Amino acid sequence: MRVASAETIFPRSFTDDYPIAERGEGVYLYDRSGKRYLDACGGAAVVSVGHGVREIIDAIARQTNALTYAHSSQFDTEAGIELSEFLSRKFPGQAQQARIHFTSGGSEATETAIKIVRQYWLARKEPQRQDLVSRWHGYHGASLGALSVSGNRKRRRDYLSLLTNVAHVSPCFCYHCWLDKQFPSCELACANELETMIDELGRNKVAAFFCEPVVGATSGAPPAPGYLQKINDICIENDVLLVADEVMTGAGRTGKYFAVEHWGVAPDIVLLGKGLSSGYAPLGAVLVSEKVWRTIADAALIMEHGFTYQAHPPSVAAGLAVQKHVEKNSLVERASQVGEYLAQRLERLRSEDYVGDIRGKGMLQVVEFVQDRDTRKPFPPEVKLSKLMFSELRSRGVMVYPVSGTVDGEVGDHILIAPPFIIEPAEIDWLVEQVGEAIGLIRKGLIRWW
Ligand code: PLP
Repeated sequence: MRVASAETIFPRSFTDDYPIAERGEGVYLYDRSGKRYLDACGGAAVVSVGHGVREIIDAIARQTNALTYAHSSQFDTEAGIELSEFLSRKFPGQAQQARIHFTSGGSEATETAIKIVRQYWLARKEPQRQDLVSRWHGYHGASLGALSVSGNRKRRRDYLSLLTNVAHVSPCFCYHCWLDKQFPSCELACANELETMIDELGRNKVAAFFCEPVVGATSGAPPAPGYLQKINDICIENDVLLVADEVMTGAGRTGKYFAVEHWGVAPDIVLLGKGLSSGYAPLGAVLVSEKVWRTIADAALIMEHGFTYQAHPPSVAAGLAVQKHVEKNSLVERASQVGEYLAQRLERLRSEDYVGDIRGKGMLQVVEFVQDRDTRKPFPPEVKLSKLMFSELRSRGVMVYPVSGTVDGEVGDHILIAPPFIIEPAEIDWLVEQVGEAIGLIRKGLIRWW
């Protein structure tokens, strides 16, 4: 038998090695040696319904048997139409008919949204509205347009000369407030920065504000009470489009279909990815409010944009089957309940040495590690603490998503815990126990860093 070798793979990191994943079942992944891993992060908060769901695999197979490809400039497909109808009905906010543009993932969704924003202002005959504003520390994708909108310093650093000019304001990150303030006496100074930025750039110059309602990988920080509503108000007052990047938070992950629904905010454009197809096929989506698409349609503009694989038939069939499965099994409601249980159980770790903060929303939770809980001082980056935690947990058969640069994109460590919504309470108990024991090893100095 030929044994697969990874020597011809250009890897994510040349200093890491990766087990060879062979199969997935429910909340578990199995590698080639037969070792079982609890997929406690769903890859990167991707897998919502669990691995290996037969009815989803069958739906993809039926689509693949019938038709694998038709170009979106020439055809629509039944699956694409049905999924767009489903998402249009879900669109948060006003009773309106959203239209959906399918992509192959989150970065393409961000790129597409940037161009839709541009088309909107061209249609409104305000071509000077070119400026985009987003937040430091946010993440909207790896392609250059999406990375320009992103604010994570580490991810941007090596490519700065290639990025386009996007204005950034402070994140809403109470545990490490970038403005050195405290909630509520801060009076949401970070939200007010958007207003100041709009003033500085020029009131009729700003096209859109991009943000993740709950910051995903880079911090897991939910917004302070009133923050998103204030951002929404500022956008409305200044006629600035609000783009909610729900690539990580959308499709149920935070316990509502869209995270913005927790705060009653209705964005102009919403981005989806990850949980939309739960990893069964590459899929992202841009959900465009009626206000935006109708303006573009009425101006009869031809939008020069498109990807070869947009609305790829097996991918939209996967998304449709996943979302039907989510509805049929009330998995968003389950994410809300189980997410609460997960948060409660993780709370028990708060008293452990080196645990600085536990935060998140629903099935998107973060455990942050600090050297000193009083000062919130992070570990030195050379310790690579989140990676050590990752390795220790992986050896115990638990997959988490390690992140460094928690504080400001440069220093700090956390692990992201974002399991499939079907995880059982007993599995959560075991997971939390493993994280607790791994933290114990730091305390005992078995994970050496000094
Ligand atoms: N937006 C957010 C909030 C994300 O978390 C990600 C990926 O982690 C992206 C966009 C980019 O998505 P993708 O990696 O599918 O291109």
